Amino acid sequence: MYEFQCGSPVCRTQFTAPTKDELMGKVADHVLVKHRIAEPTKSLVQFLEANTIREVTPAGKAR
Ligand SMILES: [Zn+2]
Repeated sequence: MYEFQCGSPVCRTQFTAPTKDELMGKVADHVLVKHRIAEPTKSLVQFLEANTIREVTPAGKAR
């Protein structure tokens, strides 16, 4: 499971998704709706991927 935590100090949106692809889709949606960035540049996407997304392991679920 992947977790997104918006890096904007004025936004603190947080959500999770089962896969990274799905989460990136939600992130694209989020930056469009909340931050009005219709087409994030590749470097912005890479920045978001590196700084706002992390993999989380659901508690109580052994690998
Ligand atoms: Zn945000």
